Amino acid sequence: MSKKESHSTSHEEQFEIAIVGGGICGLILAIGLLKRNVKITIYEQSQSFREIGAGVAFTANAIQCMRLIHPGIVDALKTVATSNGNPDDPNDYLQFADGFNQKEDEESKIIFKLYAGYRGFEGCHRAHLLDELVKLVPDNVVRFCKRLDHYVDPGDEGKLKLYFEDGSTAEADAVIGCDGIKSKVRRILLGEENPASYPTYSHKSAFRALIPMDRAASALGDELARNQRMHLGPSAHLLHFPVAHQSLLNVVAFLDDSTERSYSSRLSEPGSKQEVVQAFASWGPTVRTITNLLDDEMDKWFIFDTNDHPAPKYASGRVCIAGDAAHAASPHHGAGAGIGVEDALALSRLLELVTESMEKGGRASKQEALTAAFAAFDAVRRERTQWFVGSSRMICNVYELNNAETGNDMDKIYEEIKWRSHKIWHFDIDGMLRQVEDQYKGKLDGDNIPKSML
Ligand SMILES: Cc1cc2nc3c(=O)[nH]c(=O)nc-3n(C[C@H](O)[C@H](O)[C@H](O)COP(=O)(O)OP(=O)(O)OC[C@H]3O[C@@H](n4cnc5c(N)ncnc54)[C@H](O)[C@@H]3O)c2cc1C
Repeated sequence: MSKKESHSTSHEEQFEIAIVGGGICGLILAIGLLKRNVKITIYEQSQSFREIGAGVAFTANAIQCMRLIHPGIVDALKTVATSNGNPDDPNDYLQFADGFNQKEDEESKIIFKLYAGYRGFEGCHRAHLLDELVKLVPDNVVRFCKRLDHYVDPGDEGKLKLYFEDGSTAEADAVIGCDGIKSKVRRILLGEENPASYPTYSHKSAFRALIPMDRAASALGDELARNQRMHLGPSAHLLHFPVAHQSLLNVVAFLDDSTERSYSSRLSEPGSKQEVVQAFASWGPTVRTITNLLDDEMDKWFIFDTNDHPAPKYASGRVCIAGDAAHAASPHHGAGAGIGVEDALALSRLLELVTESMEKGGRASKQEALTAAFAAFDAVRRERTQWFVGSSRMICNVYELNNAETGNDMDKIYEEIKWRSHKIWHFDIDGMLRQVEDQYKGKLDGDNIPKSML
């Protein structure tokens, strides 16, 4: 009897997915799976869903994926999203400015504008978005204060067992690690000794702040304060965009940081306004005005990513990783969460296909179908997401005039930023969905799942 035939009675069984981590990706994935009647439980280490008090923006690719995962996610985003510029006539262009320009005339500082598509840049306050997303997730599928310690995979048979740091355990047919940049699932999947299990420090720090819009607008003028702008310059850059229905200005200042930091270091610590003011002291008046608006105390984030040691696989058997857990990137394209939303769409569709396989009573057991789904996810998502991680690091050098190819040639800088941004924004989502389906069917029918993934 073949391996597949030996499972022929299990096709009617439902399956249950454990999602480890309830950040943006875990929650959006959960909403997508619930919509497709997949049984899930989210295990989150915190006492409640939490996001830091900072802004996040979504570009066209992410918004379209949200729509396909569950239209309610787009409604949630629209409830909290802030238009770029005039709400009645949003500005769909991202602006790149010469941060060193010493003139007072704002318009003269803009080097180029990039069309992001109709409402192709939606900024919001992270905590506000989370509050809306949570409304789409019933309480009974969430377990808080559950910090995963490890899991045990019994192989082909039976359920996976999850062990939490509080001593409790749980079971599931498959595990999806959405547990962020310091993912435990990734470490177990790739092995403790594997350098790819750990993110490394990019030697960039990010100072993040939210400034009340009335203060920002009176210092900068309405036009500048209510529109996104990226200020470029040597070895640093500064980004701002409005959030919270234009009641707050989200500011992120990126600086070099020569300190050595390891995986176990903290991701953030209190930073001081003085450090930022000093770093931008010789920049133009616009940037100096913005840094002077900052609060005395602000958060300083150390930017880690997976660029140096990309994961050789995103799945093994019935375990996979998605979002930052799989491909944490530095934030210079402003699209890491959006790329995680693409993952959530791919996984939602794949697990829907598993349900369909089970309902049709195909030859595959649910273990085989789940393994095929995760192998398909790996096959389709790894190349784009790892390109994104590398491009995020690279584009930082372009912004900061440190890239050998583009230097301080603004035409070359424009072309480089344009094609990379377009590759992110104009993603062929239908093509991705076709690919995941083809891959899934191929892996289910054939035996082309690499040994390393079983
Ligand atoms: C300065 C900065 C600006 C950014 N700006 C943007 C932007 O404008 N647009 C954009 O698209 N992206 C942006 N990003 C990237 C974006 O923030 C991330 O890609 C995104 O938040 C990752 O979401 P996630 O759900 O994968 O991980 P996380 O948000 O990190 O969520 C992981 C969750 O898992 C939980 N967890 C961790 N370990 C365990 C465990 N062992 N057991 C149980 N639970 C666990 C955590 O508590 C957390 O809730 C930015 C990033 C930075 C640093």
